[in-house]
Amino acid sequence: MEEKTNNKKVEVKTGAKKRVCMVCGKPSPATICEPCEAKIRGEALEHKHEVEKAGRTDTGRK
Ligand SMILES: [Zn+2]
Repeated sequence: MEEKTNNKKVEVKTGAKKRVCMVCGKPSPATICEPCEAKIRGEALEHKHEVEKAGRTDTGRK
């Protein structure tokens, strides 16, 4: 039995497209570069704090 080796593996090369940080726009291997990620995490924590605070004062609303 002969096995035909089909080279039909189509690899979608996304590497051709330059990846940049979606926050600062600098070339980055990740969607968001490390400095921005750290910053966002910090802001997220702050935001969470704000939400908790707002939740207390905003109790009568649905
Ligand atoms: Zn960035």
